[in-house]
Amino acid sequence: MLGLSKLGKRNRSRPRTLYEVCPVCRHGHLNAMALMETVSCSFCHHIFSLEVPPPPVQRPTLSIEDFPQSLRWQWTGDNWRSLPQVEMPLTLWLWAVALAIMILPPTLLGLAMAIVPVAAYSRGAWIPPFWMVATLIGHGWIGLWLLAEHYQWPWYTRLQIFWQRHGLLR
Ligand SMILES: [Zn+2]
Repeated sequence: MLGLSKLGKRNRSRPRTLYEVCPVCRHGHLNAMALMETVSCSFCHHIFSLEVPPPPVQRPTLSIEDFPQSLRWQWTGDNWRSLPQVEMPLTLWLWAVALAIMILPPTLLGLAMAIVPVAAYSRGAWIPPFWMVATLIGHGWIGLWLLAEHYQWPWYTRLQIFWQRHGLLR
């Protein structure tokens, strides 16, 4: 009853239950793909495999298929709940790179400012602190973006949807 047949092949109407709503973007709905045991989202186009265990268990699980990280969700009866994921070494590297991008350049700038201080009331005294803040913000965003792309956090996917709707993306 909760299998692929419930997810219509070309269902253009709004999803009726949360079972048909994509757990990644929470916006598009899941459609069964022709001749395949997979479903795809009508909005973010991610591909999932749907496993429906036989009764009396029948707790369908969705696994993402086109993503380097193994993300899985289980149907609780009224929502898709994300299952704890198996951490991959990639995740550790990603955190290391993201943190290095966020921390190293501002630290180097701070060191330079400490070693070669600018006279407080000289012309251009505002440049080093301004540069420091700009570096903190710029590099903070780059690191955050790297992590958000990897984890596909809900606030990030919502932001992407907003950008797409307003033609700021693609
Ligand atoms: Zn989606």
